[in-house]
Amino acid sequence: MGSSLSSQVTVKVPAKVNLELRVGPLRDDGFHAISTVFHAVDLCDEVTVRSDRDWSCQTTGPFSDKVPNGDDNLAMTAVRLLARRAGIEEPLAVEIAKSIPVAGGMAGGSADAAGALLAADALLQTGFNKRELHSLASELGSDVPFALYGGTAIGSGRGEQLAPVLTKGSFEWVFALHHEGLSTPAVYAECDRLRGDDPVDEPVPGEGLMTALRAGDVDALARRLHNDLQDAACSLLPRLWDTLDAGIDAGALGAIVSGSGPTVAFLCADRSEALDLMVTLTAGKVADVVVSASGPVHGAHVIHDVRRR
Ligand code: ATP
Repeated sequence: MGSSLSSQVTVKVPAKVNLELRVGPLRDDGFHAISTVFHAVDLCDEVTVRSDRDWSCQTTGPFSDKVPNGDDNLAMTAVRLLARRAGIEEPLAVEIAKSIPVAGGMAGGSADAAGALLAADALLQTGFNKRELHSLASELGSDVPFALYGGTAIGSGRGEQLAPVLTKGSFEWVFALHHEGLSTPAVYAECDRLRGDDPVDEPVPGEGLMTALRAGDVDALARRLHNDLQDAACSLLPRLWDTLDAGIDAGALGAIVSGSGPTVAFLCADRSEALDLMVTLTAGKVADVVVSASGPVHGAHVIHDVRRR
């Protein structure tokens, strides 16, 4: 163990969209049990971890002004946790090149935590196995383990218990991003408020989604997209209803609020339809930023590794 000042590892890590998000009753620990299908898309952050004289965390890119630097950053929490568990005290510097929207319901902070965990693990050569890294990721947050694996996976519990899902081919998406963020706890609280005293069932995966994914059937997938948090996100930010309608009117096969929002995801028939939709939504000023991406893609993976001793 131990590395010189010039050692550094860079990891690329994807955002996610929830193809389905079913929210159960509020648990005693303050979390909701969920049943979800995560899907990693090629809208990625790059996280670099290097040995340094002091601990630090910096972010660059279009969304960097909304991300805390230093100890409040989830990526910093991740590297400190990993180093502590490995019994390593040498300080690490984290740099995040951020392309995933912040507080957008695409798990950007969780992605950075997963990326930082993997980069620090490679840099420090901890010898942790996959199960141990998964366990550290779960401690950091419900969405962090999925960012390590990527692909498409059923998430249960708080979302940290994962089972991979077979898919065929790839799917083309357009994402409408909004500068206003939505806080995930606030959206869950609004979901509880809207449900009132209605009984809430334990969440189970909906029928048909797995078959659509296995067959690579984009039309069937579009019909199966479902998000129990969508009404709550739209209740807090009503312009999301217009965004959802605008995408369908412009030819998207399906539209869904991503996770706790406010990002809206549109499923398109193919790449060329996605590019057309992106142009139409951008021209119509339907959202603050419109981007396209495809999925599923791999989870966190090392793209640059310079270790000198
Ligand atoms: P999720 O989809 O998991 O609910 P999200 O995409 O809505 O998450 P994030 O982008 O993960 O939300 O950020 C939520 C908050 O976490 C931000 O407002 C920010 O203050 C804080 N945060 C801490 N570290 C990071 C990070 N590395 N990237 C983004 N946000 C971070």
